[in-house]
Amino acid sequence: MKNLLTSVCLTLSLVSPLALAEQVNLYSARKEALIKPLLDKFTQQTGISVNLVTGKADNLITRLKSEGRFSPADLLLTTDVGRLYRAKQQGLTQVISSSDKADAIPVNFRDTEGHWLGLSLRARPIMIANNRKVDGDVASLEDLATDTWKGRVCIRSSSNIYNQSMVAAMLSQVGEEQTQNWANRFVKNFARPPQGGDRDQIKAVAAGQCDVAIANTYYLAGMLSSEDETQIAQAKAVKVIWPNQADRGSHVNISGVALAKNAPNKAAARKLIDFLLTEESQAWYANTNHEYPVLPNVEWSPLLQSFGQFKAESVVLSQLGELNPLSVRVMDKAGWK
Ligand code: FE
Repeated sequence: MKNLLTSVCLTLSLVSPLALAEQVNLYSARKEALIKPLLDKFTQQTGISVNLVTGKADNLITRLKSEGRFSPADLLLTTDVGRLYRAKQQGLTQVISSSDKADAIPVNFRDTEGHWLGLSLRARPIMIANNRKVDGDVASLEDLATDTWKGRVCIRSSSNIYNQSMVAAMLSQVGEEQTQNWANRFVKNFARPPQGGDRDQIKAVAAGQCDVAIANTYYLAGMLSSEDETQIAQAKAVKVIWPNQADRGSHVNISGVALAKNAPNKAAARKLIDFLLTEESQAWYANTNHEYPVLPNVEWSPLLQSFGQFKAESVVLSQLGELNPLSVRVMDKAGWK
């Protein structure tokens, strides 16, 4: 009995200081400036402090793995579904209990077993020169692989996860043979060996080095709302074309969050997830990061609206993770550097 009492007292004395200060440990691949203001608001509203660890997604996953069951991480936030899938495959995540907010996310934007869910959508359309006359029509990714576009396409390297996910999405919808044929011809249309990031592709179109590029819309939006006149002019030199509107829809990815396998602060983590899914937070994503809300009922910012409405692919995003290795092989085979 005495032993039991001692251990109860000991447990209480260990638990109470922690219970006073509720906290969440967030491992984030999203840059601090693009998430911190939202986390501060969460802390203000709930009193729950958020300890933010930022880093590259793969490094955070390695860290989670090496920390094992002693990991302090509650949540892993990434900007591509491929990484969420990878974390789950490595046994580093667990089921997020359902909530009204999480259930409102379209099913293709969350893990079928509930280990991760999307927080915002990132669209990757075609951007075409708007500062000069451009010959040829383009309405699909397939069009960009026809002879019309020979030597006129700019896109970044195949080592980039956005391209890997885009090709994986194609694989999941049209199959390997068709995707390989597409990639073989698409690569032949490149204006230059892949280099730089998405913004560099937009700049190359503006400069006339190529006529079309593929890039995520938030880069274009970021340039348009920058204070740098040159960037604004470069962004204005292109316009968005939503590909594949007549068939499968345009490629989208998510930024999302997974619940860490050994999350020590599960209840607080759950509260943070729901906070990130409030209408206010969703609107913040659209206004600040220029990403699309993952919840269908949230209004888009005027800038996003200016790019036009579009039909998104309805591919189940976990397949992008599954098909990632094949996607890399297909691009490799096509000679996509
Ligand atoms: Fe990015």
